[in-house]
Amino acid sequence: MIILLLLSFYKINFFMESTNTQTDILRMLLAKSYIETLPTQMQNTDYINILNMITNYLHTYCQHNIVTDLIDVDPDTSQTIRYCDKCMHTFA
Ligand SMILES: [Zn+2]
Repeated sequence: MIILLLLSFYKINFFMESTNTQTDILRMLLAKSYIETLPTQMQNTDYINILNMITNYLHTYCQHNIVTDLIDVDPDTSQTIRYCDKCMHTFA
């Protein structure tokens, strides 16, 4: 788990540094990724509030780069999604 987190850190860090984007967003994204690894049934109200605060921070302060993509819902159906490729927030 830690190795995957470090690999994703370096991957995201390389991307973020190479595109000269927001370091605070990178740190918040990594913190959120790590915090979300705790099983849901072990998360209390304060823990969930912290996760929500990080999500709100990302949504508020990220200079979103919204991309449109298709995901496979099943073998015959695809669905269009819009998300930010910096903070991974999905948009309607
Ligand atoms: Zn974003």
